[in-house]
Amino acid sequence: MTIDLRSDTVTKPTKGMLDTMMQAKVGDDVFREDPTVNELEVRIAGMFGKSDALFFPSGTMANQTALKLHTNPGDQVICDKYAHIYNYESGGASFNSGVSCSLIDGNRGMFKAGQVLDAINPEAYYYSQTSLVEIENTTNKGGGACWELDEIKKIRTICDENNLGFHLDGARIWNALVAKNETTKQYGEIFDTISVCLSKGLGCPIGSVLVGDSEIMKQAIRIRKIFGGNMRQAGYLAAAGLYALDNHVERLAEDHKKAKEIGETLTKLSIIKTIEPIETNIVIFELNTDVNEDTFVQKLADKGIHIISMGSNKLRMVTHLDYTSTMHDKLLSTLRKVI
Ligand SMILES: *Cc1c(COP(=O)(O)O)cnc(C)c1O
Repeated sequence: MTIDLRSDTVTKPTKGMLDTMMQAKVGDDVFREDPTVNELEVRIAGMFGKSDALFFPSGTMANQTALKLHTNPGDQVICDKYAHIYNYESGGASFNSGVSCSLIDGNRGMFKAGQVLDAINPEAYYYSQTSLVEIENTTNKGGGACWELDEIKKIRTICDENNLGFHLDGARIWNALVAKNETTKQYGEIFDTISVCLSKGLGCPIGSVLVGDSEIMKQAIRIRKIFGGNMRQAGYLAAAGLYALDNHVERLAEDHKKAKEIGETLTKLSIIKTIEPIETNIVIFELNTDVNEDTFVQKLADKGIHIISMGSNKLRMVTHLDYTSTMHDKLLSTLRKVI
């Protein structure tokens, strides 16, 4: 039995999902004639109370498109130092949109409205123009942390007062919604654009969606084309998304429960220095300095358990749809024996 906790992207489509995909009605989406893609876009736009949605092959492309929609070359984007758009999108912000990032030194990938205010450049012509604030919910490098809606609303007010766009990288927004008992509408009301992933916790093989109102979204399809993200009979993939929305959202609570139980077990191990608070499906922990990180990872790998390093002696485990109760029991008992 192999237990893969490197990411929630390692899941394979379930039988139910595959059956639904195979039965999908499809057409050429470049002509906007794929009924299943259209259905997914209408559904997700509606969920967030936005007029438009666009299906993307990856979350990176959806985020990069959003950056392009909100900015002009030379502009600056305010985001956390842990932001995916800054750390894990291959420098795309500068490559694709010619923008720089003003990084906020936040807490677990989250920051306060006051810090946004401080990060906005003055009007003077020799500064780069701040045009966008970007946040992530849940935060990836921040260990699956969830934002407080009240703080996000305060940031929205600052965006309004300073004429800034507001984008949410909602790759794991589903986890946040389930953990905090919030709704898609609450997020749609606040943000100009939101990207959501179907291929993380929801268990689809591919797919992200960008939502927003028609004014900002009207250029999105052109930018997606420039990025090479136009697809043809993508309905087979969109069908997986529709299936996941029906079947894989509420169950995220199980992933969260398992992650918390992993955390409780890790707390008892003498080789662990710290564990970040566990709110959703991500567990980030640090080993004592006398424990070699690579040796620890290898020791688990030898037992068929795969986890990843986040750098600076931090390790990460992510629970997901394919992480079963049997695997969970085995993991917990193996961890107790590693002491
Ligand atoms: C995974 C992820 C993305 C998108 O990644 P892709 O692999 O391109 O789909 C974006 N933001 C965050 C926070 C992520 O975790």
